[in-house]
Amino acid sequence: MVEEHTQQADPIAFQRGMALVRRRRKYFFATIIGYMPLMWLANKISPTFRSMAIAFGIWVVILFVTALLSALARCPRCGNYFHMHGMSLMYLRRCLHCQLSIKS
Ligand SMILES: [Zn+2]
Repeated sequence: MVEEHTQQADPIAFQRGMALVRRRRKYFFATIIGYMPLMWLANKISPTFRSMAIAFGIWVVILFVTALLSALARCPRCGNYFHMHGMSLMYLRRCLHCQLSIKS
């Protein structure tokens, strides 16, 4: 099942694939971290329930998009989804299929 060396031949494509996985992870984590400053900012600009709810709604949409993008990022070594195995989505530092490290 694990084809360790199928896509190792092209190091440029491999690096590009790895960079994509890392970038999408970064966007996802940045969205999570951005929750507090975003809500703080919304509260500063307009401290009503309505505007807070809108800010929260926008954040949820961004979170959903970044989670989807990161979930669909493929491992450059085994070609499977880097963070998704079956129905489970896990943000480990390794590929859930071939154990390829995020730092590769
Ligand atoms: Zn993999």
